[in-house]
Amino acid sequence: MPAASDSSVPADSRPSAVRAPGHIRLTSHSGGAGAPPITWGAPTARERGPVIATTTDRAHRNVIGTHSGSYSVYRALAVASGALSREHRADLTNTSPTDVVGPHPQWTDRNAIVSIDPWGALVAESFPEPLVAGYDIRPTIAITKAHVILPEIIDAIAQGRLQPDGEVLLPTGAALVTKAAVEPVWWLPGIADRFGCSDTELRRVLFEETGGMYPELVTRPDLEVFLPPIGGQTVYIFGDPQGLSDPAVELTARVHDECNGSDVFGSDICTCRPYLTHAIEECIQGVQRGGVGLVAYSRKEGRALGEVTKFLVYNARKRQVGGDTADQYFARTECVAGVQDMRFQELMPDVLHWLGITRIDRLVSMSNMKYDAITGSGIEVGERVDIPPELIPEDARVEIDAKTAAGYFTSGAVPTTDDLRQVKGRGLRR
Ligand SMILES: [Zn+2]
Repeated sequence: MPAASDSSVPADSRPSAVRAPGHIRLTSHSGGAGAPPITWGAPTARERGPVIATTTDRAHRNVIGTHSGSYSVYRALAVASGALSREHRADLTNTSPTDVVGPHPQWTDRNAIVSIDPWGALVAESFPEPLVAGYDIRPTIAITKAHVILPEIIDAIAQGRLQPDGEVLLPTGAALVTKAAVEPVWWLPGIADRFGCSDTELRRVLFEETGGMYPELVTRPDLEVFLPPIGGQTVYIFGDPQGLSDPAVELTARVHDECNGSDVFGSDICTCRPYLTHAIEECIQGVQRGGVGLVAYSRKEGRALGEVTKFLVYNARKRQVGGDTADQYFARTECVAGVQDMRFQELMPDVLHWLGITRIDRLVSMSNMKYDAITGSGIEVGERVDIPPELIPEDARVEIDAKTAAGYFTSGAVPTTDDLRQVKGRGLRR
């Protein structure tokens, strides 16, 4: 690689808060010695090497991109406005995980996990020497405890479907959880492999489709790890997290993709929130039978097409000739977005492998894409649990029937093409 470049770009027009070095240091050339190598899938954390994405000491960086996914842009704004010193180092006192996850055998299988850093919660334990030596190594996973209080769970207690036990479910309706926030950390050769393209192709397209945001994608083939500017995942564990990796302990699990409109605001055009809260109810019941429950929540809004595309599709569906019918459900999405779905479940099982899961007894999901990704990654699935019909909002029949006809799992009847023409959602104004 070329030696450190001092490519000088006049910087006088920038605010004083960001002018410190006097010129912009491009990251597209090697920073020189000092960056520990990353050997993805190595047998121990020490041999794997720490992920160093600091922006303060460029010579230490051994990845492309930086921490916090899309929030890295807000960090830049904080620096630009002068609110945050770019030299700030996180004080990690008392931030260590409340529960230990792993290490599991999957952590050292370079094909099992390619989109998160399995050692990401164990930074202090795994890399004491480089930390003492001054390397800015930050966790990419944080694990804590919480009480989650949902009106649907309180209602399930009132209806007699759930009984508080004082351990996983309190009489107030609060459920006790262990939760983990997980940032994306991509090992590019493994990501390319999952998507059936070459590492070079993947890097080039990532570079071009982000408007040239990360030049190292194309100039630094020696850097194999990329922290992409996308949303991460949150894992909610009901019961003892140690049970997740024990196939003898019954595991109830849902992998849920973000839908702000339904999950948070209760929009009735889809089944996202009812399915999510049903899964939580199933998880609590599973724990009460001696098992463990898991909801893995991915920030992939609107099938990872984003909310603007999603709302455009809603309008296109409801304004088309004949109204919002189930037989046109996928076609309308494809018209606007060019594809039906961009969630690419190929990466989703990584978080399950991080947790050491080898078997899911009850998968609370109807998605064939999720099921295929999970079983294709080597995790056994027992029973599949569909959403109870009484939880499907009237306007969401269009979506659920279209999906069921397209191959989603159902314990009921699969709608015919004729049926799909009859299933109609409401218009835009009533
Ligand atoms: Zn939804």
